[in-house]
Amino acid sequence: MKKSNEPWNETDVWKNQSEFFTWLRGQIRKSIWQFYPVKNEFKNDQTFEVTNEEKQQYGLSKSTKKAGKCVFCNHYFPKSKLEVDHIEQVGSLKSFDDVSEFVSLLACSKDNMQLTCKPCHKIKSYAERHDVSFDEAKAIKGAIEIIKNKEDKAFLAYRGISPGSNQKQRREQIITYLKSHPNDI
Ligand SMILES: [Zn+2]
Repeated sequence: MKKSNEPWNETDVWKNQSEFFTWLRGQIRKSIWQFYPVKNEFKNDQTFEVTNEEKQQYGLSKSTKKAGKCVFCNHYFPKSKLEVDHIEQVGSLKSFDDVSEFVSLLACSKDNMQLTCKPCHKIKSYAERHDVSFDEAKAIKGAIEIIKNKEDKAFLAYRGISPGSNQKQRREQIITYLKSHPNDI
């Protein structure tokens, strides 16, 4: 008979099965993805040595050696500021049965990779986690940031929008505005 394997029941480290698999997901992801040779090769393929002219043109510092373009915002960044994103998301890990599919999606081929800047990568991850579009995620994250900096009233007023009376309203106003003006942030 197969032994039950429920390590989350034997320690207080994880409250439940879900917390255990979140932990396991992080461990697998880190060990495969961090130094995944195919990813590093992809990043090398997708970046190029920049000339002085290109540094000026793309607003890169003089010390930049290699640079590449973010697939989302289309701006150029130094290689060190670029990350590799899975086009098809790796997804969640909820049980041991999911491990094989998770690993095969994680250790993917180059055709499932794209180059992205760090801020855009965060937006893409947020969009995947909350099942919203990239533009919507960008607007939501922008609104969160504006509110965190206590700039919500000024942001709206400056754009000719009368700020709502409470923060929840202002958050919605900012999200609506940013969705139709995605480059105004
Ligand atoms: Zn970007």
